Amino acid sequence: MAKRWLRGNILDFSGDPFLSDRPDDCLTVLEDGMLAIEDGLIAWLGPAAEARPAPGEEVAHHPGALITPGLIDAHVHYPQSQMIGAFGEQLLEWLETYTFPTEAKFRDAAHSRRVAGLFLDELLRNGVTTACVYATSSVESVDAFFAEAESRGLRMAAGKVLMDRNAPAELLDGPGMGIEESRALIARWHGRGRLLYAVTPRFAPTSSPAQLKAAGRLWAEHPGTLMQTHLSENLAEIDWVRSLFPDRADYLDVYHQAGLTGRGAIFGHGVHLSEAEFCRCHQTGSALAHCPTSNLFLGSGLFPLHEAKRRDRPVCVALGSDIGAGTSLSPLRTMGEAYKVAALQGRRLPAAQAWWLATRGGAEAMGLEDRIGRIALGYEADLVVWDLAPNPFARQRMEAARNWPERLFVAMTQGEARPLEVLISRPAPGSA
Ligand SMILES: [Zn+2]
Repeated sequence: MAKRWLRGNILDFSGDPFLSDRPDDCLTVLEDGMLAIEDGLIAWLGPAAEARPAPGEEVAHHPGALITPGLIDAHVHYPQSQMIGAFGEQLLEWLETYTFPTEAKFRDAAHSRRVAGLFLDELLRNGVTTACVYATSSVESVDAFFAEAESRGLRMAAGKVLMDRNAPAELLDGPGMGIEESRALIARWHGRGRLLYAVTPRFAPTSSPAQLKAAGRLWAEHPGTLMQTHLSENLAEIDWVRSLFPDRADYLDVYHQAGLTGRGAIFGHGVHLSEAEFCRCHQTGSALAHCPTSNLFLGSGLFPLHEAKRRDRPVCVALGSDIGAGTSLSPLRTMGEAYKVAALQGRRLPAAQAWWLATRGGAEAMGLEDRIGRIALGYEADLVVWDLAPNPFARQRMEAARNWPERLFVAMTQGEARPLEVLISRPAPGSA
């Protein structure tokens, strides 16, 4: 099969910038590089001068552009697209006032398909090719999302929200029902194309202890599926969890005792974790999704990223938009806000670390680090070709930048860079 070639400046990492004293040295950009895509995978990578495309093979040349792996949004609620930027509440009131009424509309399959399609197109427009997505408690909302993701050939994870208490009756699972619906959705969608299922209890207060335990069993029965939920986002929420689960050592322990920690578990937020909880994340291989625009918008608090990444017990951290509490699907905006959250705690977030979170961090959180999140041989060719300076004002700033770490830092603080092209890995029919 003919290869498709792409030529431009190609981003990769030579190491984990959180483990280096000189983080930006971990950022590598192959200037005037070239890569070839065959059967949806990266089949060749090197300097353009050494590339040998066969006669007739297509070469897309983007001089000056930056080619990066598709970015990864590790925590996002697609049904909340219509409530982004709703005014004036903190987490628990936010759920009652905006989230539950919005999510109640997703029993309607046509509405679900429409919102899911628009959401995925908007992700792609922002250079996001993979996300870990919450649907609602309705089966229709999950079917709609996966159908739209499949039709675009995307690598996406999603799950039905499990809730059997402390939410409006129309959104609640009946006894055992949520687990059985999830089981059927796993059978229908998990591993189909590039889709993955995520077992998705919304958070501890809206699931009974029995439902949390059953969710843990369901996850264990289906290796390769993910698990996503919320953790320690807001202080009132943490108090509530303490009153609902007085026998547990801490918030994370509620999930741990239900079998909901481990590799492939992604906990949204983790803003107010104790040292014991960070240790347990590290020991179990559980990941945290840092959602800075959401944490700032709802006034939830400042996620201590550098504490989470402490080198003696590093926790896997990814970036999430947390739409609709987050304010943008753009990972550049999310990285920019992550920088400010770090700055408010007297820390810095160099470009290499921010871009790592949005690529390698997300891939590791989802257990996909051998397939996505890098530009390397054999990796799935989900790629973004960025125009880092799409208007004269941005160009003026970018031209003053002296090197790639600086350009990438400006891209995330300005948020002006735009994808010229987003390539999605498309294996030839019948290939593995
Ligand atoms: Zn969330």
